[in-house]
Amino acid sequence: MSKIAIFGDVHSNIDAFDAVLADAASLGAGEYMSTGDIVGYNADPGECMARMRELGCPVVMGNHDYYVSKNLDLSDFNPHAAKVVEWTRGRLSEADLEELGALPFTYTGRGVTVVHATMDSPSGFGYVFDNFQAAASFMNQRTPICFHGHTHCPMIFEHSMTGVFRIDPLELPSGVFTLRPGRKYFINVGSVGQPRDGDPRASYAVYDSVARTVEFRRVAYDIAAQQAKIRAAGLPERLAERLAAGM
Ligand code: ZN
Repeated sequence: MSKIAIFGDVHSNIDAFDAVLADAASLGAGEYMSTGDIVGYNADPGECMARMRELGCPVVMGNHDYYVSKNLDLSDFNPHAAKVVEWTRGRLSEADLEELGALPFTYTGRGVTVVHATMDSPSGFGYVFDNFQAAASFMNQRTPICFHGHTHCPMIFEHSMTGVFRIDPLELPSGVFTLRPGRKYFINVGSVGQPRDGDPRASYAVYDSVARTVEFRRVAYDIAAQQAKIRAAGLPERLAERLAAGM
């Protein structure tokens, strides 16, 4: 099996998650890896935990997974996110919380590394939006390819002899990027459950270790179904609205 589906920032959105898994299966993905943040923001934390358990794939610790499972003070969290962290804690079983709290900050296997945010501080959850921030992560990246998430915006950072370059997946012909030999890559696969790049469709990527390609995928799902669950749960209205806007 050469195709690995890399996905993350599912954020308790089972509608988007199941649509992505169906898409990955239709492309022949035989393996899965996750960049974390299984929970937070949306209304299906238990369902998403159960689906992750069924997949049994490597998954790293996201900041929401961390905050939900560690019972930490939430005063420096954005208020919408904090409200959902508390709501999520009440919806998960002890086994779910224990499993979330035991996630590793990084995973290495099949020649690639997976981290939620950055390799320079995997437990610090900093954001990588520019080449300078990516350069700091590259200093600590030991495999040629590292997949991450956290910003919810798909992006490729390429490290070569001459520096760090940013490649926008939207500019790739049919969303397929061919990895160049002798370079290092820090690749953001976007978010399954709450995309923020203006495209509301679920985002993930398929890495083909033989063809040496990364295909960026966008998958339509039933946004209205997830919005109805967010409203029924009494979660902030803004969280329902942002799904339709992809922001
Ligand atoms: Zn996230």
